[in-house]
Amino acid sequence: MLRLYDTRARRVVQVGPADGRQLKVYACGPTVYRYAHVGNLRTYLLGDLVRRIAEAARVRTTVVQNITDVGHLADDTAVDATGEDKVLAQARAEGKTAQDLARFYEAAFHRDLAALNVRPADAYPRASESIPLMVDLVARLLERGHAYVGGDRSVFFAARSFPSYGEISGNRLDDLQPGHRVEGTDPAKRFHGDWTLWRRAGANRAMVWPSPWGPGFPGWHVECSAMSLHHLGHSIDLHLGGTDLRFPHHENERAQTSSAVGHEVVRHWVHGEHLLFEGRKMAKSTGNVVLLSDVAARGLDPLALRLAFLAARYRTQLDLTWAALEAADRTLRRWRTRMAEWAEAPSARMDARARREVEDAFTDDLDTPAALEVLRRLEKAPGVPPGSKFETFAHLDRLFGLDFVRDVGRAGPALPPGAGELLAARATARAAKDWGASDRLRDELAALGVAVSDTSTGQRWTLART
Ligand code: AMP
Ligand code: ZN
Repeated sequence: MLRLYDTRARRVVQVGPADGRQLKVYACGPTVYRYAHVGNLRTYLLGDLVRRIAEAARVRTTVVQNITDVGHLADDTAVDATGEDKVLAQARAEGKTAQDLARFYEAAFHRDLAALNVRPADAYPRASESIPLMVDLVARLLERGHAYVGGDRSVFFAARSFPSYGEISGNRLDDLQPGHRVEGTDPAKRFHGDWTLWRRAGANRAMVWPSPWGPGFPGWHVECSAMSLHHLGHSIDLHLGGTDLRFPHHENERAQTSSAVGHEVVRHWVHGEHLLFEGRKMAKSTGNVVLLSDVAARGLDPLALRLAFLAARYRTQLDLTWAALEAADRTLRRWRTRMAEWAEAPSARMDARARREVEDAFTDDLDTPAALEVLRRLEKAPGVPPGSKFETFAHLDRLFGLDFVRDVGRAGPALPPGAGELLAARATARAAKDWGASDRLRDELAALGVAVSDTSTGQRWTLART
């Protein structure tokens, strides 16, 4: 059905539903303390593309994406008591409650995705509403000997209890020397590679929950393990995220999830490469952050961003520029104009070859650049009737998600009611060489004020002057 690059297997593999019926996908979601930048959005597009391909192959897909509104510390790799929660820190900066801040950016996240035609996930569980699941998971890990309560009554995962740690990123525990970033200053830890599952917190911190280990809050990695197991079960076909999540987030998640149930849960880990903008990494600290609202403010269609993303394969780094976005915007407008023109031509069958080539490109490890190339060729193909181009673009938009038909019927004068059907019937009659019916339909159209003429590429219509 679909081939994707599996980071852990280090090769392109066949991806499909383990149970033969339903593809289960978990996509790491946003920490809702700021607007998503266009790099984040590129990564979120990945789940949408997988869903569109699966559904075109008539495979039901369930996508779950978490909303992190607690537990994501400013520096997750430093396991010490001073780690500051991203949501709480930003709430303080904006003078809002943590909940108001999180709900605000969560709504913005959904708006951005909708503007990019990213179909909604089936569930968006919030971390703050899933604490009991996480407490259960931590308890299970303690029971099974994969975790311990540290000197400060925080709970840690015992990294050495999961011998295959590091298979996703290649960061084996032996290589993670003390003194490396992952080493915490926390003396409560037994081993420098261990990480916090549940962090003990004083009551004066906002967002603190009771637990068997005292009041505290969950570690970020615990959230995704608990939610994915709860919402998708013990076998998950695909786990998605940006490339930076390979380590430590996905290594820690994999260790927790697999240790909790006693077997490998996630079949394939798939990562999207990062987006650069004008040659630079996107980072708030350097002021190089572009939002979807910045794209719209330049008068560009948000779907031009989607088209620009599709112009590169998900696992290659993409250096986006304003010039590239403007070019994508022009291409999109041109295709929509063509579609409005082609829509007026007699209807014709889809171009089977173009359709197959596009579908093959999508299923071949999301080769979206190749898929776009097929559209470019089809647009110009002299031998393909315009009606066929229309049908093909319209059908394939199920995969591209670029609203190709948006301008159809907008340009030029509108046909009077009933005339569209008569034109279609006449095209069918002419294809069947039924000249009698064709002439009768021409008269009926004339009675509605529509003048039809026949050309080498099919019938053309104009509104007769009244
Ligand atoms: P964050 O909000 O930093 O947790 O990131 C949310 C998602 O966006 C994660 O899956 C990241 O891997 C991904 N991401 C972060 N920066 C970029 C970038 N520049 N390009 C593409 N994806 C990114
Ligand atoms: Zn995650």
